[in-house]
Amino acid sequence: MLNNLKLAGTSADKVADIILTHAHPIHIGGIVDANGDKVFTKDELYISKIERGYWMAEGPDFSKGTKNAVADFEIGFAKNILGKVDQEHKFYGDGEDLFGFLKAELSPGHTPGHMIITVFSGEESLVHNQEPNFRYSPFMNYWVLPDYSRKNLNPCKPLT
Ligand SMILES: [Zn+2]
Repeated sequence: MLNNLKLAGTSADKVADIILTHAHPIHIGGIVDANGDKVFTKDELYISKIERGYWMAEGPDFSKGTKNAVADFEIGFAKNILGKVDQEHKFYGDGEDLFGFLKAELSPGHTPGHMIITVFSGEESLVHNQEPNFRYSPFMNYWVLPDYSRKNLNPCKPLT
């Protein structure tokens, strides 16, 4: 991430906002460094309240998924990383407009609080669905795409 920012001609200290689609390790691991210090020092950190609440709960409910070693790792990782920046979370939710050019949509399935973000620019829009492939998710039996997603996305099927 830091190298990509450099290639784009910017740096972590110039990032103003970070919007987390969900709290799996590869999506939150870069917000703090090995010492637990924030990498993006000026950012506002946005996460869905459902997502943050799920991972930070005493015992996240895996009754609709598979509780295994991977899930245990994900729970511990999320609690560790989100806990380090817990006072800095800003929450966003289903249907919310962010900054006048982003629209958030709750898309539970990959995780209970997974969000799809649509980016608007003039008359154009781009749907950013971070992880439509659910095959690695412990929630493989827990995907309920909202109507918008069912109509506009081509959801992947879990591998059998
Ligand atoms: Zn994920």
